[in-house]
Order: sequence, then C-alpha cells, then structure tokens
Amino acid sequence: MKLSLYNTLTKSVQEFTPIHDREVHMYSCGPTVYDHAHIGNLRSFLFPDILQRSLRVICGYRVKWVMNITDIDDKTIRDSAIGSPKWKFEFGTQTSDPKENVRLLTLYYEQAFKRDLELIGIKKSDFSAMPRATDYIKEMQALIVSISSQGFAYESEGSVYFNVAKWREHEQYGRLFAIDLEHFKAGVRIDADEYSREQVSDFVLWKAVKDNEPFWDFPFEGKNLKGRPGWHIECSAMGQALLGLPLDIHTGGVDLRFPHHEDEIAQSKAGYGCETAQFWCHNEFLEVEGKKMSKSLGNFYTLQDLLNKGMDPLDIRFSMVNAHYGSVFNFTEFGVESASKARKRVQEYIYACFEGNVGHDHHAEELYQLKQEFFGALCDDLHMPKAIEALFTFMKNTPAHILSNRDRPSFLELMNDINDIIAVWTIAPRPEESIPDEVKKLAEIRWNAKATRDFALADDMRKQIAALGFAIKDTKDSYSIIKE
Ligand SMILES: [Zn+2]
Repeated sequence: MKLSLYNTLTKSVQEFTPIHDREVHMYSCGPTVYDHAHIGNLRSFLFPDILQRSLRVICGYRVKWVMNITDIDDKTIRDSAIGSPKWKFEFGTQTSDPKENVRLLTLYYEQAFKRDLELIGIKKSDFSAMPRATDYIKEMQALIVSISSQGFAYESEGSVYFNVAKWREHEQYGRLFAIDLEHFKAGVRIDADEYSREQVSDFVLWKAVKDNEPFWDFPFEGKNLKGRPGWHIECSAMGQALLGLPLDIHTGGVDLRFPHHEDEIAQSKAGYGCETAQFWCHNEFLEVEGKKMSKSLGNFYTLQDLLNKGMDPLDIRFSMVNAHYGSVFNFTEFGVESASKARKRVQEYIYACFEGNVGHDHHAEELYQLKQEFFGALCDDLHMPKAIEALFTFMKNTPAHILSNRDRPSFLELMNDINDIIAVWTIAPRPEESIPDEVKKLAEIRWNAKATRDFALADDMRKQIAALGFAIKDTKDSYSIIKE
C-alpha cells in the first residue's frame, strides 16, 4: 500500500515514495532540553512516531529516523548561567565553566525527555540516532563556511548572518509559510532564535560569545570567531551528517514552519546546494480544555503532571493519536477518560479471543474489510480517527464470541499490525496474576450459586467482586473475570 501525506511545501496531499529504494530518511525537530517537555511538545513527537510506524508496517519500508536534541541555544544558556533561578541541585554542582553547566542542565532534561518518550510508547530502538547539537559543531561551522563561500553569509561584530536579500535574488524565501516581506529591510539583523513573520531579517548562523557564555573557536575568513551556532543551522548540519540531504520527510510542529524550517531550507540550499526535504509535514497545536496552554492559565502540563493526576500514559497516547495530526487537538481530562474506556474495550476483545466460546460462522470477509478500512484510512494522510472507527465498528458488529477458531488467529494477527502502529495494547492472553485469588474464589462461588439457582448469593458475590474492582462476564457455559 502507498501512503499519501499533506506536504506543506506543495500545500497538497501527495503520494509518498522514498528517494532511496524502500528506505525512508526522516528527520524530526526534537526538544530543546532546558525544561521538561509539555504535552504540546509530546504531540509533536507522537505524530512522527505514528508516521514512521505506519511507513514500516503498512508500506514495508525501512525507516531511518533521526530526532535531534538541542542542547545549545538561548534558553539552555540562560537557565544554566551562574545565578539562574532555574538551576536545581539534581543537575549537580554548578561549576565556573559555562560549557559544563550547560552540559549538566541539558543532560538532566535529556534523560527526563527520553523517559517521557518511553512512557508514552515511543521506542528508543526506533530511532537511528538522537544527536546532541554540541556534538556537531564542526559540521555546522563547515556549512557556515560553505554558505559564506557562495556569497550568502557575512560577518558582523564577530557573528555571522545569512543574507536574506541576496538569497531572494536567486530563490524564493517563504516556501512553507506566507512571510510578511513588506517590512523587510535588507541588512537588518536578528540575533534571537525565535522571531515572528513580521520580523523577517538576516538571521544569525553563528553568534559571537558574550560574557560568561560557553563558546567554541571558529576559524572564519582569517579570524577566530569565538561563539556558538544559531538554532536553525543545527538541524541543517545534523540532517546532512546523519541522513544526507535531501531527506524524505522532515517533521515538526506548525510553529516551526517559520522561521526555523524556512531558514533551514535557505541554509541547506545555499550551503549544500540541495533541497532539505521532499516532504515537510507539520502537526497542529494542542489546546487544554479548549484554551491555549499557558503557564499563566495553570493548564501547562508536563507528562509527569498528568501521571500525578492518576492518568495512564498509554491512555494519554491513545487519546492523542486518536485525532488527526493536522487539526488542533483539544486535550481534556474527559477525553483521556473516554480513551481509557475505549482502550480497555479493545483489550477485553483481545483477551476474549484467547478464551471462552468459539463461534461457528466464519468472518473472513469482515476481517478483510477491517484491514482495508484501517490501513486505507492511515494511507489517506494518516486519518487515525477513521481507522479507529473501523476497528470499533468491526468489534460492535462481530463480537469476539462469534469469531470462529479460524477467525481468531486472523484477527489477532491483524491486531498485531494495528498495535505495531498504535502501541497501546497487549496481544496476549489475559495475565493470570492480574486477578487476585480472592476474586477468583468469589467468582467460583457465584458460578456455583447460579448453577444451583441461588440468585441472592450469586448477586451478593457479584457485588463483592465489583467492590474489589472486577466484573464477571458470563458466556453460555463459562465466565471470564474482567478488571474494571
Ligand atoms: Zn529543527
């Protein structure tokens, strides 16, 4: 099956074919590790996770997936500076070396980030690399030198800038996002890593060192420019070093279209002479309870905040992936509760396929239809809500107990593939140890009471079982115990 994706570069849904035979090179802009990731960030990482899993499972491609770790930028320097209120003793003891302080702070948050990924079902083994920006300074410097040799960069007061006016004589600037070029003035420079579309200016490739900042030596046009890379150059250099340009797919949140990705396109074309990526894919924002997430509204959640509220990380994953990546996602507690219930329903269906009665009619046709609808929906620009709806329709029309002994292995095999993408279920028999002996005993008493038509006792047992958090599901000549 072929997968189609919305490409921000062409503003259309296009069929995807990898540049290299059956191997997809995908780059995702990763976190800046100066704090814990918030759930909006996590959505930006769940999207490429679902995408790379779909490319492997549905299309059978190998995927080389790289996500960078930005460990040097305005924020990591600010928060690790001597006297910063953000310094925590967990990072270690602050030293007199600013480079070491940045390393301690970013290492702490990088590890926290990797734990978050594992918790929400993004596997470390699915990445071919998670490079730290500071390990690629030489490659960034080489790219800056190359951009300069092509005449698209210049030095000013120890920093190096990209010459946007010069670039616009050759190439379009604003390919991903409509930029406000009306106020653009040639030669105006901006040092900040993040800026708005009204502030289009010559952006910084290399920043001159300021007092007490970490720096690297950079031999440039006969001078040594002590400093550090700008944020945008980091991804261009790491993408080229680890995957080679052009990439098949470059992902990120919509907020990265400008300036980050636009600048990446310009830098890579100017310095490497090639396009950055054939597909640019962006996921939309996340809101919380219908409002923009912000610290001042008190709805700014990290994954840990949600776990502290008693949420299961896989319920959070399921609630987030059961929405189209291209629409604004409204994260609500109610939504996670509903996702939790829905997830359990599927899990119970899977368990039921390993136990209880077997039906006599075969349902090969319905199973084939489910497979077509599920993967067909994902091939249509990763339409996950439609795919999951197909699964629930199948479960409703074809309850587990009517599946024949030929259907059951087919269903479980299909669920294995589905779960290789959604990754929130266990495709195995119900674990025995999950039901306490006490509950098993009460269930047995209840079953015997029912057999002897002692319904009062049976009902009493049912209530006791419910109080322990379990329920009984009767079938014709057996029963199963379900965790509520
Ligand atoms: Zn990036």
